[in-house]
Amino acid sequence: MKRTAVFPGSFDPFTIGHESIVRRAIGLFDNIIIAIGINNKKPSFIDLDTRIKIIKKVFEGENRIEIKVYSGLTIDFCKSENCKYILRGLRTSADFEFERAIGQTNKLLNSEIETVFLLSLPQHTFISSSILREVILNNGKLDGLLPSNISAADFI
Ligand code: ADP
Repeated sequence: MKRTAVFPGSFDPFTIGHESIVRRAIGLFDNIIIAIGINNKKPSFIDLDTRIKIIKKVFEGENRIEIKVYSGLTIDFCKSENCKYILRGLRTSADFEFERAIGQTNKLLNSEIETVFLLSLPQHTFISSSILREVILNNGKLDGLLPSNISAADFI
């Protein structure tokens, strides 16, 4: 059976930190599904189509990386995709505490699914979608925050 990992997140927007986690994890799995979780109660900053377009552009030509959209529980989405691994990134101890609660809850809900964590690269530890949103909103310089082939023009 194929080793598939789901990398779930809001990716609002997708940062160089997210890109790095996926590029490093692809060596560990046969394929990765980048799964954009939709929360209808929470309005997004970047619309869904643009988020998909940007992630597709980042991984253009990489046939082991797919982009999908889901709502509801991540473990239910994993089950529907026949996937046994959830991939998450860890930047700080705050991430760890947050991720521990989610990971342990997921384990309780479905003991067959393992969450796999990769530590962020040191140079990406301060990067988050919320920081990127602030910089975009205020027309700041985006160098070092965006994935390699993405620029401000991609957000239009
Ligand atoms: P969520 O809304 O589920 O937290 P995010 O889109 O913010 O989704 O993040 C998705 C995953 O990527 C999370 O595991 C998060 O910890 C990780 N992540 C976010 N930013 C970085 C970064 N700069 N370096 C490494 N991992 C990151």
